[in-house]
Amino acid sequence: MGEYQLCGLHSRCMGMGVKNPVYGSPAWLKVRAFVLRRDGHWCQIRLPGCRGEANSVDHVVELEDGGAPYDAGNLQAACRPCNSAKGNYRRQARGRGMRQW
Ligand SMILES: [Zn+2]
Repeated sequence: MGEYQLCGLHSRCMGMGVKNPVYGSPAWLKVRAFVLRRDGHWCQIRLPGCRGEANSVDHVVELEDGGAPYDAGNLQAACRPCNSAKGNYRRQARGRGMRQW
């Protein structure tokens, strides 16, 4: 803990989706706001270390795995620690033989 280097306002610079044009597009900002309101700004992932209050939105099926970028059904509110932990977990899982590219 405490080793994350977040670049200020740019929560999308947390390691995933950095190169993805989805984040930052008007459609994304719109569905992101919708999902946060739908989930009551409350984290839906609930990993250990969860902060509870969500300030970001997570793709249930990651874009890299073919998830729909702007489908609210593929999105859930997430706090920063959970979103980050999930991303790390997924990267590890992918490194363990789930390679599809
Ligand atoms: Zn959380």
